[in-house]
Amino acid sequence: MTSPVDENRRPAALPLLRGQKALVTGANSGIGKATAIGLGRAGADVVVNYVAGKEAADEVVQEIESFGVRAYAYEADVSNEDQVVGMFADMVERFGTIDILVANAGLQRDAASVDMTLAQWQKVLDVNLTGQFLCAREAAKEFVRRGVVPEVSRAAGKIICMSSVHQIIPWAGHANYAASKGGVLMLMQTLAQELAPQGIRVNAVAPGAIRTPINHDAWATPEAEAELLKLVPYRRVGDPEDIADAVTTLASDLMDYVVGATIYVDGGMTLFPGFATGG
Ligand code: NAP
Repeated sequence: MTSPVDENRRPAALPLLRGQKALVTGANSGIGKATAIGLGRAGADVVVNYVAGKEAADEVVQEIESFGVRAYAYEADVSNEDQVVGMFADMVERFGTIDILVANAGLQRDAASVDMTLAQWQKVLDVNLTGQFLCAREAAKEFVRRGVVPEVSRAAGKIICMSSVHQIIPWAGHANYAASKGGVLMLMQTLAQELAPQGIRVNAVAPGAIRTPINHDAWATPEAEAELLKLVPYRRVGDPEDIADAVTTLASDLMDYVVGATIYVDGGMTLFPGFATGG
């Protein structure tokens, strides 16, 4: 029989993020889509940012609304300062504030370094790094203005940067992408150091190989997948939901003392798997 003391200790079965307002960039596809849905399932109202593909964004909104929370889609290019400023102003007007930013939007423009055009280099840095800076800056302004609301969260706000294992693993043929994610690591840590005294938690999630359109060729055939899995000690390709679950937990007060950290969600990809049998 359960004693009354045990009953009191049992955590209430409330959604982790009830009453919180979240914005996820690049949320009409892959990891961003799963994350936006995951945050909605956990009780947050969600802004679904996209740059193209309104229909896909609207479908994500519908799925989030099915949990009984609010959601809407918003078109903005995260590398365009005016559009980012407008997106956050619109969110504050419609939702009142923001509690969680997931700076997820990202892309690849692959080429050997000797063939890489300045446009390829610049596009990846603009979206993957400058885009995260612009969104983090606008979110932080609102967190600082509003401060902590204890009924909502112990923190004044949470920023989660979507990084990659390539923030620390060099990647031949992807100098622009690896440089952008290396930049995200230092951006995240610097923002975390700067904003922590104001109650703002900045962290990163670094996915390994996740089954999304961005890396379709790496898992699309059994041969490609077998080759990819040599790099993954846990021997499975990740699903977008693996990342969504990590983000949801990291955004919640369960992780309130986690500040400036990168959570690698990579099946062990960063464990130097080649050294399991060599070295
Ligand atoms: P994805 O399915 O291609 O999604 C990328 C998202 O970013 C799309 O919604 C895309 O929108 C959006 N986006 C691109 N440029 C944008 C811009 N200028 N403004 C706003 N949104 C923009 O790829 P994903 O795998 O989910 O990638 C999401 C994040 O995870 C990226 O930061 C990526 O680097 C990171 N990541 C992924 C993996 C992996 O294995 N999949 C591993 C490590 C890190 P459109 O489709 O409309 O262009």
